[in-house]
Amino acid sequence: MLRIAEHAGATDVGRQRQTNEDDFVDAPPFFAVADGMGGAKAGEVASQLAAEAFAGERGGEEPPEAQLERITRHANRRIYELATKDETRRGMGTTLTAALVSGGRVSLAHVGDSRAYRLRDDRLEQLTHDHSLVAELERTGQISPEAAESHPQRSIITRALGPEPDVEVDTYTVSANAGDVFLLCSDGLTAMLADDEVSSILTTSTSLDAAAQALVRAANQSGGKDNITVVLFRVEEGKTADAADGDTIAGQITADEVRGAEAAPVTKAVARRRAARAPRPLRPARRRRSPLRRALAALAAILVLGAAIGGLYAASRRVWFVGTNDAGLVTLYRGIPYDLPFGVELYSEEYESGMPARAIPASRRGRILDHEWRSRSDATDLVRALEQGRIEGR
Ligand code: CA
Repeated sequence: MLRIAEHAGATDVGRQRQTNEDDFVDAPPFFAVADGMGGAKAGEVASQLAAEAFAGERGGEEPPEAQLERITRHANRRIYELATKDETRRGMGTTLTAALVSGGRVSLAHVGDSRAYRLRDDRLEQLTHDHSLVAELERTGQISPEAAESHPQRSIITRALGPEPDVEVDTYTVSANAGDVFLLCSDGLTAMLADDEVSSILTTSTSLDAAAQALVRAANQSGGKDNITVVLFRVEEGKTADAADGDTIAGQITADEVRGAEAAPVTKAVARRRAARAPRPLRPARRRRSPLRRALAALAAILVLGAAIGGLYAASRRVWFVGTNDAGLVTLYRGIPYDLPFGVELYSEEYESGMPARAIPASRRGRILDHEWRSRSDATDLVRALEQGRIEGR
């Protein structure tokens, strides 16, 4: 089972702007960054509306990508309506890059030029494609990556929440391995720091909190031309957090546990309010002790259930199968093709091929994408053969 072992968020006005129009969500299993635009405080409102759209959302009740898309489109509608009703807010908009951790995967929804990255084995990989003029020019080969970095129109984005009644949302789902660190950030970070500077800060920091602060500091030292926002989370394999002493440590809540709890988004406003509040007591009030026998019976039940699930999980990791993912692409999965109650999946997406399932002749599709249990090498060979067209040719 995958748990969110650590998470942190930080935002800063930077060195050249008067106001901070960025906002963020640090409310496991949800994380997001929104970078607002539009003068006279309108950008601030737009990004705040985007962050607020996660309030009251829980993970695990709908397919993750569909849920993120629904939240994003709802936020778009709210921003659009306010922008058309209120003269002073006309033209406001915001980017939104959001993540939802669920099972062994991280789903993303993305509009604009904020970014999501995954740091795995000290290598930083950008997971989102910018919806910006410069990125389009670069993609179509009209300008070089070097020219893109210093292009005067770098901040023009081609997609945002707010300008239109509906918005096209990119969604992705990527695998998560133990130790992976995910970074969501506004362009105030990435315009100031190269990827290798970002990854070296991430790999040398002692905690994600320290890393978030260090990233903001480094962006400011490089000029701080824009608002800077970073959200970080790290995932680990792990059992349910030990809550025996009555404390609930936010950083140790598993994704599955959080599904049952109301998500209380930490946004810029909430973070400010929290910081202003008097120090909180370290421990909540002591719980009334239940009778010893009831406690022992409960403990025994938990141990038995834990052993059963642990065994099932360990066994499932030895099996691989081939199927399709939400995008209809042939995908290699690890685990067994079953869901347990409460949205617990016994499999994780390991590799997404670029091959749509419908490219396989219908007569063979069923036999190839049959979810048959395979060894790792069998499953890998099958996907590779499909990608290279060897199976179709047979
Ligand atoms: Ca910005």
